[in-house]
Amino acid sequence: MKPVNIRVGVVPVGEVPEIAPKVIASHFLGYLNLSADILPRLEHPEYAFDKRRCQYNAALIIKAFESEHFDSYDKVIGVFDVDLFVPLFTHVFGEARLGGKYAIISLFRLEKNLERAAKVALHEFGHLCHLEHCRDIKCLMHFSKGLEELDNTPLYFCKYCSAYLESAFSRVRT
Ligand SMILES: [Zn+2]
Ligand SMILES: [Zn+2]
Repeated sequence: MKPVNIRVGVVPVGEVPEIAPKVIASHFLGYLNLSADILPRLEHPEYAFDKRRCQYNAALIIKAFESEHFDSYDKVIGVFDVDLFVPLFTHVFGEARLGGKYAIISLFRLEKNLERAAKVALHEFGHLCHLEHCRDIKCLMHFSKGLEELDNTPLYFCKYCSAYLESAFSRVRT
């Protein structure tokens, strides 16, 4: 893909290892030709803790990100170490609103595997660019219910999703 002017920020939250946002940022560059900045670490998200589930509510975290602004960035990926959920799911690897600015991912269930983290980050970034789930199991936008599916998902988008992303990028470029 051609270089694009989308300003991506990767923000570590809580106790994520320092290497994690770096690996994610390098995948943005390597796979999408997007240079991503690593932003200052944010505090552990106590505000989103659900006592009953002992997990963190992804929707509340995305809401909190909205009030942090991150004005210099078009898309922001939060990298968490805590277990995330959204209602209806027991847990999520990541969460983003379609076409939104903020996505979050969690390393919690990825067993310290940073390639998985990069996959989840690029997948959620696809959602931020209006990409929905793809039926092609050989596409990064394929929905993964568990680690096995995630591991079988490639680190690239199918030709349809790639073309869609290209056109989304060209809209941003103008
Ligand atoms: Zn998804
Ligand atoms: Zn696809």
